[in-house]
Parts: sequence; structure tokens; C-alpha cells
Amino acid sequence: MVSTSPQTLPIFYRPELAPPDAQGNYSKSPTKPRRFMEYLRTTSLWPHIRLIDDFQKVTREDLLLAHVPNYVDAMIQGTQPLCESNSLRWSPEFRDSVLYTSGALLAALQAAIAAPDQVTMAPVSGFHHATPAGGGGFCTFSGQVVAALRLYREQGLRGAWFDLDGHMGNSIEDSRAFAPDLNQAIARGCNVNPLGQHAAYLADLDKQIAEIRRRLLAGQVDYVAFAHGADSHQWDQLGHQCTTEEWLEAGRRIYAMVREVRETKPVPLTLALFGGYRDDHPESVLGLHAMDLAECLAQLYGISTGFVAEVRSPRGA
Ligand SMILES: [Zn+2]
Repeated sequence: MVSTSPQTLPIFYRPELAPPDAQGNYSKSPTKPRRFMEYLRTTSLWPHIRLIDDFQKVTREDLLLAHVPNYVDAMIQGTQPLCESNSLRWSPEFRDSVLYTSGALLAALQAAIAAPDQVTMAPVSGFHHATPAGGGGFCTFSGQVVAALRLYREQGLRGAWFDLDGHMGNSIEDSRAFAPDLNQAIARGCNVNPLGQHAAYLADLDKQIAEIRRRLLAGQVDYVAFAHGADSHQWDQLGHQCTTEEWLEAGRRIYAMVREVRETKPVPLTLALFGGYRDDHPESVLGLHAMDLAECLAQLYGISTGFVAEVRSPRGA
């Protein structure tokens, strides 16, 4: 089955996804959804984007799929110190934003599954270092795990994650004992975090892309999620793995695989943002994310935007 080319790429965004300001936090990721959307508006990608804003927060019951009740309730109610175990300042607006980011990811995945000729995006971060008992590393809830368990328990669907953030995402592996059916929802080997740097990084990614491709064609994986964290870029404050060209190439290889498998069968694909830290030039982070999205439009929508962002070398690099 050859899918027809869709026209616009739905992004699941509403203002509540981002708290009003970064509140002095080291991580600016909580406000990235808003800054990314403002940035996209100024680019040649914008005419190809469709905003979807009618999704809801995840519920307490959803969060209990992946977390113990005292942590979920501490985050909902603002109980110290557990509500700041993510290293981010708690506020009612922050609490709402993390309920909406997990909600956006779930809704984007559901929409991709319902219309698998599209690519959907949730412009969100902060999902892959939380554990069942608490937050960690700027991550509050295991949004990946919540969404995967909902999709598996309600529809029997099994996913694969390409997590190309610069940091090993531990949430999925650290949740397997807490939620044993995560072993079906995201099987071992389906949580891809490439190792190494530069050519070795791309070689490791290639091996893992080939394995996910095999599982897609074998009917063992039903959907793909891809978070291209910009902190796997060598000029990121917290990263070191890839040059700009290597970083873009990593995304290109994933989109190329999806495009090829789509010639045989539908492959729902949802994108997220994850990390990226440049206090000297935050636009470099947003520009990388936007160039990756442009690559997705080129490969999977046949749309050439001609978009190139400035990724500025930091002083001394
Ligand atoms: Zn990271």
C-alpha cells in the first residue's frame, strides 16, 4: 500500500503547555514549546503546519500507570520536596504544563495511529529521566511510559522510541518492574539511545534503525516515536555527540527508513523535542529542531521548504 502525500503536519500545542516563564530554572525546556512555536511562525515551515489545540491534560489515573500515588499527588498538590525532585521550581502553572505535555504526546500519538500517512508532533520535553517514584534531570513524569501503556492496554499497540537526546533516557527501562506490560508496550530493544560520537554514533544508530525496520515489517512494532533532543549536538552546553551535519543526518536516516517501510505498510510517526541547552544562543536550539522538522517535511511530505537555521558556534569553540 502506497500512502498519499498529506498536506500539513499537525502540531499539538496549546499555551498551557508552557508555564509563563523559566522562573530562574537552569533548564529552559519548560518554556520551549512556546518558544519553538513562536520561532516556527517566522520560518518557511509555517504554511505546512496545522495547529491542534483541543487535547486534554493527562489525568491522575493516567499518571498512576507509571508512578506511585504519593509522587503523583505531591506533583498535583505541590508537596515539597517531592514536587521539585525534577530540579524545577513547582507552581500551579508548572504543574498544569506537565499535565498538558504528557497529554499532547498521547494525543499526537493517537492522531498518528488514526491517520498514519501523516506525521504528528508534540513540541514537548521532560519525559525520559523520571522514575516511578519521582522526577529527575528536568523530567517530571514518564510521559513516554504513560502514553505507551495507554496505547497498549486500550488498543494492543506496541511502539518503538528513537530517543536521540544527548542523554540516555532511563524512564522506560526504570519502569519495567513497576509496569511489567511495558515489556510488550515498548519491547526491549525498542528504546533506541545511540552510543558514541560522530561516525560511531551514526553507525550505532544505523544498526538500531535496521532492527526497528525489521520489527516494523515483521508486525512486532505498530508505531514509532522520535525525539531529536538538540543536546546531542556538539555545541550544546550538555552535549557532545554530533556536528550540525551529523545531527541532521541522524534524523534524515530515521525519516528515510519510515518512508521506505511506508511503501509496504502504514507507519504512524510522532515527533517530540526533548533537550537542548544554549544560554548563549537559544535560537540555535530552536533552529536545530526546526531544521529537523524541515527534513521530515522533505522526506515524508515531499515538501521542500529550503529552510536553513543559524547554528552559532559558541565562543571558544
Ligand atoms: Zn538531555
